[in-house]
Amino acid sequence: MSFKDLKLNKPILRAVAEAGYDNPTLVQEKTIPLVLERQDVITSAQTGTGKTAAFALPILQLLYDQQDAPKKGKTIKALVISPTRELAIQIAKNFKTYASHTNLTSAVIYGGTSIEPQIDILKKGIDILVATPGRLLDLHKQDELNLDYVEVFVLDEADLMLDMGFIDDVRKIERLCPEDKQTLLFSATMPYKVEQLASSILKTPKRIEVTPTSSAAKDVSQVLYYVPKRNKIELCLHLLRNTVKGSILIFRRTKFGVDKLHQTLISNGYDDAERLHGDRSQIERQNALADFKRGKVNILIATDVAARGIDIIELDSVINFDLPNVPETYVHRIGRTGRAGNFGHSYSLCSADEKSYVQTIQKLINVQIPVENDHPYPLDPKAKPIVHKKKGSKYKKGRKSEASKKKKKRWY
Ligand code: AMP
Repeated sequence: MSFKDLKLNKPILRAVAEAGYDNPTLVQEKTIPLVLERQDVITSAQTGTGKTAAFALPILQLLYDQQDAPKKGKTIKALVISPTRELAIQIAKNFKTYASHTNLTSAVIYGGTSIEPQIDILKKGIDILVATPGRLLDLHKQDELNLDYVEVFVLDEADLMLDMGFIDDVRKIERLCPEDKQTLLFSATMPYKVEQLASSILKTPKRIEVTPTSSAAKDVSQVLYYVPKRNKIELCLHLLRNTVKGSILIFRRTKFGVDKLHQTLISNGYDDAERLHGDRSQIERQNALADFKRGKVNILIATDVAARGIDIIELDSVINFDLPNVPETYVHRIGRTGRAGNFGHSYSLCSADEKSYVQTIQKLINVQIPVENDHPYPLDPKAKPIVHKKKGSKYKKGRKSEASKKKKKRWY
């Protein structure tokens, strides 16, 4: 499915494209059409699934048709409540990005900072307000905001909101909005108290559940580095020097690749790197594995096939030097860390020709892998995959006859 299939209008589609999103995530595919139909919705989805855009995009679409001139008499038509400041800021940032080609305006208010600038922003008039509960109620008490025109009310991270003790505040805020509003509730988990809240404030809600594939282990942090193919080795060395710690399993697609990286690591002072692939003898493989398990070596470079069956409880990190073209392999690889209650880390290096693999992986695991752009070898987003043409003469075959070639006197 594409964003166009979701019937979003052009200015929003343009902003989505500029944000670098190619296709909607699963939670977006399922939630957006229901929000556009003005249904109440309960979505259980975690951060990382693309849930913010799942409510932000259709809200902008609904408000777009009735938007005013940039500064004309704006009233709050969408209210998003978030339990933490960080999350509220993040949500507001997303709204600004997606609304960049519309006249719709948004603001964020949260506690712990001076209230005056927030009052000034509210006075100017905005369409969308993102807020933490306490500060929102403060401002309402001071008569600085009017919730009489709210059409869509979003409760984000409802489970966390209740864990943080905001239940009464949430109920109060809900009552300050008009009765006939549309309500959307997002929660990573759906414990009884969230169900209870939902049943008291939502009207015949539709339910959506998007859980990340369980094996895309919850206890593994994932990071993606876009990097030109030619710089992968440098980036790998950079990560080994600065970021990746502990026992490290590095995956490469080919045996040749494993050997090449192994040599590079050895010549860069990583004498403790070992390698594992199908061309090594059984005894060599066993020794490599035993040394890694014992902690005698900290780095093991392997192909997928050779690494099958490795069960090293203490594995700290996985580096996907090459991304696998089979998405399940990614899940399998990163699942080797973060076991037995330990926290694991996975680092994936993606060159221009591997970008499509990222999409299929994300589709499978229902998680957008966070991208780290702050590294010394960034990939130009417009870079095209390098296609290696077959080597051979640059002259067309058969351009000259054999006879003429023989006749030709060469000067050397
Ligand atoms: P969220 O679950 O809303 O916190 O989103 C997680 C990350 O996914 C954010 O960095 C978003 O910018 C990104 N994201 C959201 N939707 C998409 C999409 N359709 N394609 C790619 N990335 C997305």
